[in-house]
Amino acid sequence: QARLLMPLMALMRVALDLQTSKALFARIFEYLDMVPAIQDAPDAITVAEAPGPIGRVEFEDVVFRYPDAAADARPTLDGVSFVAEHGQHVAFVGPSGAGKTTVLYLAPRLYEASEGRVLFAGADVKTLTQESIVDHIGIVSQETYLFHATIGENLRYAKPDATDAELEAACAAANIHHIIAGFEHGYDTVVGERGYRLSGGEKQRIAIARVLLKDPPVLLLDEATSALDTVSERVVQEALEAAASGRTTLSIAHRLSTVIGADMIHVVDAGRIVESGTHADLLARGGLYAELAAEQMAAARIEGMDAAMPAPL
Ligand code: ATP
Repeated sequence: QARLLMPLMALMRVALDLQTSKALFARIFEYLDMVPAIQDAPDAITVAEAPGPIGRVEFEDVVFRYPDAAADARPTLDGVSFVAEHGQHVAFVGPSGAGKTTVLYLAPRLYEASEGRVLFAGADVKTLTQESIVDHIGIVSQETYLFHATIGENLRYAKPDATDAELEAACAAANIHHIIAGFEHGYDTVVGERGYRLSGGEKQRIAIARVLLKDPPVLLLDEATSALDTVSERVVQEALEAAASGRTTLSIAHRLSTVIGADMIHVVDAGRIVESGTHADLLARGGLYAELAAEQMAAARIEGMDAAMPAPL
């Protein structure tokens, strides 16, 4: 069953990545001849009908076990509570396997909490239609999927009626327009499988441009762990800042440079939030975060670079 779930999760990520809605989910499940694991309640409401501010995300004592986990295994999330107010940047850091990605899966209801509640705009996500949640979320992940289609077409999945000027403005803000403009066929360049192969950093910036086009109130950001050179890193960082501005951003951060400005950093360890605060609060506390930060700074010094090194935080 685990084998079956993995490609399904990959597809779910893709579906979110594309910033599209029900039609695409339906087609994917039809293709797989499967019923989606998460079904809307018969009386489900839309996010617009929810009582709280759109852009507020809250976890209340969330316990979560993956459906295929052993019955006696420790839950992957074990009593996670936090609030991200509209427009805030809330970052999750911690060791590999701590549960950070799982938090990002639960917010758009790709999985449901085993216990406790996940609230979106003040409503339990179980009472909301998944389509309306997805409509309000943008994602920039490590695995940006590009269709075998032109760059322009790949961007328009986020906003089908976008004008050329809108595409260019989004790409300029995502620091990718100058690269696309340099291609012989510009926005008509075919990418994806068998097409022009964009680098990881370039694909990530296309994902950022999609978020800017879609303009969702909530952004989920899974920062790339792969090493980018310092120049690419700065370029991607600036693009991410443009994408996060004015939105609630939940990010999995691997680099100090990304979390320093966050409104709130939650340190996740073995499925629990063990420390919370701003960068300065957490450094002063001298706990796990301070330890991770010190390791990262030491690694950066060894590399002879500034603190923007991709050592895992
Ligand atoms: P990393 O920084 O390495 O990405 P993470 O903090 O994001 O780690 P998660 O990906 O959330 O951690 O994983 C938390 C735990 O849940 C891990 O032990 C992982 O093996 C387990 N897990 C993840 N996906 C599944 C799944 N589909 N089925 C069962 N267990 C899973």
